[in-house]
Amino acid sequence: MFDGHDHVNLIALERIDRATDPCGLPCIRAPRRRRLFGRWAFIYSRPLPAASSAWVGFVRNHLVFHEPVEDLIVVVVMRPGCTQEHVQHVVKLIREMGLRDHVIVGTDRTVIAAIGDKRQMDKSVIELAPMVERCVPILAPFKLASKEVKVEPTVVPLDGAGAKIGGHCRIGVIAGPCSVEDRTMLLETAHAVAEAGAVGLRGGAFKPRTNPYSFQGLGEKGLEILAEARDRTGLAVVTEVMSAEHVERIAQYADVLQIGTRNMHNFHLLHAVGCTDRTVLLKRGMSATLEEFLLAAEYVINAGNSKVILCERGIRTHEDYVRNTLALSIVPAIKQESHLPIIVDPSHGTGHAYMVAPMSKAAIACGADGLIIEVHPDPPHALTDGAQSITPEAFARLMRELRAVAVAIGRDL
Ligand code: PEP
Ligand code: MN
Repeated sequence: MFDGHDHVNLIALERIDRATDPCGLPCIRAPRRRRLFGRWAFIYSRPLPAASSAWVGFVRNHLVFHEPVEDLIVVVVMRPGCTQEHVQHVVKLIREMGLRDHVIVGTDRTVIAAIGDKRQMDKSVIELAPMVERCVPILAPFKLASKEVKVEPTVVPLDGAGAKIGGHCRIGVIAGPCSVEDRTMLLETAHAVAEAGAVGLRGGAFKPRTNPYSFQGLGEKGLEILAEARDRTGLAVVTEVMSAEHVERIAQYADVLQIGTRNMHNFHLLHAVGCTDRTVLLKRGMSATLEEFLLAAEYVINAGNSKVILCERGIRTHEDYVRNTLALSIVPAIKQESHLPIIVDPSHGTGHAYMVAPMSKAAIACGADGLIIEVHPDPPHALTDGAQSITPEAFARLMRELRAVAVAIGRDL
C-alpha cells in the first residue's frame, strides 16, 4: 500500500489468482487507465470490497489503484408551494441514481439534499422535475450543517412539550447541577431553576472526569431521578452520553443527549446519537476548530438526526487564570456559517462562579440562542464543579438581568 501518491491510495494485488483481470474485480466499476511509473495503472474510484483490502501488488504488469470517492452533496431547492408529491418525486429520482436523500423542511422552502458519489448524479434529470427551482452543489466541508443548505436558522425542539431553541424563539436557558448527586438536591434545584424561568434541566448521570477515580455519577439511578424531576417540573432533561452502548438506555430517560467536549471527535458516538430521534447538544471539543465542530454536527445530521444544538464551552489556551477560554467570537461565526442554533456554557467556559453572570450577558449580547449554566444548592459541597456553580438565588437574579439584555437586542427570554 503506497498511501498518498498523487491523491490516490495504491492497492497492489497479492491475490493475483482472484483478479487476473483488474476490470473483473467484484463490485468495482470500470477503472480509468493512467500511465504511471512506465506502466499502465488502473484507477478505481469505488471503495474496494472489504475482502479485497489485502490485494496489494501488480496485476499482469498493471498497477492497480484505489481512489477514494468524495461524497458530494447537491441541494435541490424546491419552489415555494411545492407539495409532498413533488418532494417525493425528487426523492425517488435521487434514490434511482443510487444516492441518499435528506429532506429539510424550512419555513419558506423545502430543500432535498442528494448525497453520494458525484458521478452517479445527473443534475439535469432532477432540474427537469416539476417544482424544482435549482440544484446547488454544496462546497462547505460541513455540508448539511452549512448555511449553503439552508439560509434560515433552524429551530430545534428540546422536547415533545414545546420548548425550542434557535431562530427567533425565546432565548432558552438550561440549568442544573454538574452531576446528579442525590434525589433531594436534584429536585430542589430543578424546582428552583424552573421557577426562575429555565426551559431545561441539566445534570450528569454518567460523568467524564479528568481523574478516573473521582465521582463518575450515579448512572441509571441518576437517570431515574432526572426523569422524576421532569415529571414534576416540566423541564426538558439534558444529560451526557459518553458511549455508544449507552445511547439507547439514556434516550429512554433524556430529552436531550449531550455530547461532551472530550467526545466531540468520537465519531462512533456521534453516529449513534444521530440514529436516535432525541435532540443532540454537541459541545465544542476543547481544541476543535470551527470547521471540526461543524463537521461533527454534520456527521450527526448525516446519520439522520437534524436536531442538533451547538454549544461553545471554552477552549484550551495558554491562559490558566480561567479553566477554559470562552471563545464567544464563535457565536457570530457560527451564525455566518451554519443554520444550527448555538448556546454558550459560561460555567465550563470560565471555571469560576463569579464570571458566570458577566459571561452569560456577553453571550446573549453577541447572539447566542441560549445558555447552559451549572446551578447547585450548596456549591462548596458539590461533588463536581462546585467552583463554577452558582446558587439557585444567584441564578434567579441572573435570569432577571439577562431578560434586560435580551430585550436590548430585540429578543425575549
Ligand atoms: C458538563 O457539562 O458537566 C461537562 C462535563 O461539560 P464539558 O464536556 O463541556 O466539559
Ligand atoms: Mn460540569
